[in-house]
Amino acid sequence: MSIQVSNIRKKFGGFTALDGVDLTVPRGKLVALLGPSGSGKTTLLRIIAGLEQADEGSGRIQFHGEDVTHVPAGKRRVGFVFQHYALFRHMSVFENIAFGLKVRPRKLRPKNNEIADRVHRLLKLVQLEGLEARYPSQLSGGQRQRVALARALAVEPKVLLLDEPFGALDAKVRKELRRWLRRFHEEIHLTTVFVTHDQEEALEIADEVVIMNNARVEQVGTPQQVYDHPATPFVYQFLGNVN
Ligand code: ADP
Repeated sequence: MSIQVSNIRKKFGGFTALDGVDLTVPRGKLVALLGPSGSGKTTLLRIIAGLEQADEGSGRIQFHGEDVTHVPAGKRRVGFVFQHYALFRHMSVFENIAFGLKVRPRKLRPKNNEIADRVHRLLKLVQLEGLEARYPSQLSGGQRQRVALARALAVEPKVLLLDEPFGALDAKVRKELRRWLRRFHEEIHLTTVFVTHDQEEALEIADEVVIMNNARVEQVGTPQQVYDHPATPFVYQFLGNVN
């Protein structure tokens, strides 16, 4: 499912967080929103998810041509992963992953054995088989983040959005997990956008990189394109820090 963002504006009080952002995320791609802290990445991701509303009278968000600008978050079929896992501490891994299915209205709720089947398939997909009875406190940071991903996938989202998914992890685990995310993406080909301020992370795993600065998109392209042909002095400088 492709994502089209057209002329999205967002102000917080007098401060402009997004200043007319246009963006197309092609179906099945893994796209990085890259930029310095405060450039508007998280705000854009949250508006795509419906967790935040764009300013009245500004542009629109479309999923595969369908206008979802005013569709509430719960009905957009978006999987969202936060930087700090946001797992339920008093629930097991199984219960965390099943949560989104169990809270559905009775008519839409799968049967218990179907939920169990789906949770086990997801555990396999994120390579956490056998850990369903554990609690979040008994998992490593990387494992917790994979539970968060399985939980986001449980509701069969049309798009997957990740906000600095590895930001809370130490450098070694970050590197492992980003390679793992790339391999995982190649298995399921779900349209995915992830936020990062880490140039190396974006350039290593993304199909396309969206470089943001000061509430605007500076450049969109493949890692090779943005690296070889920076479109603005900012992009040149920002990517110049990559070793
Ligand atoms: P990034 O993800 O690139 O670090 P954000 O989208 O989080 O940037 O934030 C962009 C700017 O908007 C920042 O200056 C931030 O302080 C401001 N901002 C974000 N959310 C809010 C909010 N709820 N209220 C006020 N200001 C906000």
